[in-house]
Amino acid sequence: MSEKKYNPRDTTLELVSRKDDLDPFSSEDGDLRAVMSCGHAVSPESLTLWCRSQLDQGIYKFKCPAVGEGTKPCNKLWSYEEVRRLADLSVSEMSYFEENMARLAAADFCDIQLCPQCNTNMERKDLSNLCVECTICTADKKTKYYFCWQCRRKWKGRGPRSDRCDNDGCANKDLELLQMCPTISLPAVEGVTSCPSVRACPTCGMRVEHNQQHCKNIHCPRCQVTFCYLCLKLKRDCNQTSSPYKICLGGVVPRQTSIPVWVRK
Ligand SMILES: [Zn+2]
Ligand SMILES: [Zn+2]
Ligand SMILES: [Zn+2]
Ligand SMILES: [Zn+2]
Ligand SMILES: [Zn+2]
Repeated sequence: MSEKKYNPRDTTLELVSRKDDLDPFSSEDGDLRAVMSCGHAVSPESLTLWCRSQLDQGIYKFKCPAVGEGTKPCNKLWSYEEVRRLADLSVSEMSYFEENMARLAAADFCDIQLCPQCNTNMERKDLSNLCVECTICTADKKTKYYFCWQCRRKWKGRGPRSDRCDNDGCANKDLELLQMCPTISLPAVEGVTSCPSVRACPTCGMRVEHNQQHCKNIHCPRCQVTFCYLCLKLKRDCNQTSSPYKICLGGVVPRQTSIPVWVRK
């Protein structure tokens, strides 16, 4: 592995010649370090090593281990975007990080909703079914009690169903938003004048919005994948025939008419 170094002319980073806060043996040796959002200075090597060691222990939310006020660790959360950029992750490191983060996030994720009758937290196992049994109420009343995950009322109609129950007004607000949202432009991406302002993550279905800055790829905070906002393919798939600042081979995919259900492996 070749040694990573910051480019002194990179004006997008705050570069300093302080010691590396992640490396106890570091000194002010003139090497350039970058300042993280928490204010601590890192090198691409020390940041990669730390985050990689965290990931290998099953931790996918990266927190700053540097000593903060007094002797307590700083513990500020870093975003993956920040880590990726300041650790100068290579393409293979990025796919290692993203695959493991997605796997860990999926294992961590639980879908929780309150039962409308007894107000107990219920976890949903089948993410594609809105008809959920409250085991507490069922045991209490000695008869099966089902409620709607979406409108939080007693279940009405046949089940299982993934779109709605038969109660009046039961609708997927995210789906309505995908249909009704205004369009935006992505000024940094060549050839894109109009794209829906809201998308559902192609992997987990979470609602995401592009901030209209930077490239067309966007990172899903829930399942941790990076996907193309225009064609809705994973970044690595879109990148095979396109580049981050150019329109995709298939153009801008129209508004989504369904929301993907997260399939947890
Ligand atoms: Zn810090
Ligand atoms: Zn209940
Ligand atoms: Zn409903
Ligand atoms: Zn996602
Ligand atoms: Zn694309």
